[in-house]
Amino acid sequence: MTSQRPRIIIIGAGFGGLHAARALENKPVEVLLIDRRNYHTFTPLLYQVATCGLEPEEIAYPVRGIFDGDSNVRFLMGEVNHIEPSDRSVTVRSSGQTRRESYDYLIVAGGSVSNYFGHDEFALHTFSLKDLDDGVTLRNHILNLFERAAWTDDETKRQALTTLVVVGGGPTGLETAGALHELVTHALNKEYGFDESRKPRVVLIEATDSLLRTFPDGLQASALRQVESLGIEVILNHSVDEVASDHIRLSDGRIIPTSTPDLVGRCSGRAADGHARRAIGRREACAG
Ligand SMILES: Cc1cc2nc3c(=O)[nH]c(=O)nc-3n(C[C@H](O)[C@H](O)[C@H](O)COP(=O)(O)OP(=O)(O)OC[C@H]3O[C@@H](n4cnc5c(N)ncnc54)[C@H](O)[C@@H]3O)c2cc1C
Repeated sequence: MTSQRPRIIIIGAGFGGLHAARALENKPVEVLLIDRRNYHTFTPLLYQVATCGLEPEEIAYPVRGIFDGDSNVRFLMGEVNHIEPSDRSVTVRSSGQTRRESYDYLIVAGGSVSNYFGHDEFALHTFSLKDLDDGVTLRNHILNLFERAAWTDDETKRQALTTLVVVGGGPTGLETAGALHELVTHALNKEYGFDESRKPRVVLIEATDSLLRTFPDGLQASALRQVESLGIEVILNHSVDEVASDHIRLSDGRIIPTSTPDLVGRCSGRAADGHARRAIGRREACAG
């Protein structure tokens, strides 16, 4: 079918892409929304999936269900792997096949990648927390560690396996640390029979001198009080200098044995070629 209406391609059905598509719905344009997944992920609750609070399907919404069948917005599931501005087209790979789609206007809303603040090598031992797969992977990793901890007779190893480190004291870091604490206190302690003397640790590390740095002073102080009152160990004014498979090293040289650092940092823009780098690592989760 040919159309005289301008054709707009939107790459990404995340918050940005969906917002654009909704704004263009029922307008005299033809919209093609493309995403490598056929669902939208509600990222603010991703940490709940990673910490067993929610099931993956509770934060995933089928994109096709968002737009009526007769809407001017069509959806295509596929990975955009090339943008060719010279002939205004994108190449989309889907189910082993490649197709070219032309546009008059292109909106790139492919999201972001994790920022390791100059320590790209951290990715080797970290988990990315950017999408549902990441959330499920992190959740499985945490549960696996507790299974391993239940088997080991080596007390030092057991402590390392049950020390959960969150790096980054922004909103996502706080949420993640709080949810991990809940998971440990209300479920895992009981299920794995850890008593007070063998309690798992949740450690929150922040490089600056306060949590929630972008919030008003009163809220920063309140957040610190509340988090510490839960029993979460907060380390301020220290950055992480090294992440290995069985420990992290802080800027003062201190070593924290752990198998699950969760690195909750910032993100930088996703490359326009659409090849997102995976980021939250085996020992770190980078969110936000
Ligand atoms: C764990 C976590 C918690 C967060 N919590 C909050 C919060 O509480 N409040 C808040 O305001 N913000 C929060 N954010 C930030 C918020 O999620 C982002 O700001 C927002 O998602 C950015 O929207 P976006 O459309 O740019 O990208 P995204 O929402 O990431 O969407 C990008 C989409 O593009 C698709 N895509 C990427 N590349 C391609 C390609 N090559 N081909 C096809 N599809 C592609 C992806 O599959 C994805 O669906 C959080 C982020 C994370 C990770």
